Amino acid sequence: MQNPQERPQAQLSVVGACTVTDCKFNEAHECHAGQIEVRVGQDGAHCATYTPEASTRPRP
Ligand code: SF4
Repeated sequence: MQNPQERPQAQLSVVGACTVTDCKFNEAHECHAGQIEVRVGQDGAHCATYTPEASTRPRP
């Protein structure tokens, strides 16, 4: 039985493919972040490492 006082340990895994193409770590649906953090909210799990790619358009 698990101890409820124990903090969950980080698990190593690999991102198989990512469809978030506007993230700066996404290259051809592959994540190049090195490591990511996944958080779970009321709407399910999401990537907390997501970083929007900087806009290449000049500011108005
Ligand atoms: S950091 Fe997250 S959102 Fe960005 S490419 Fe990797 S898995 Fe996708």
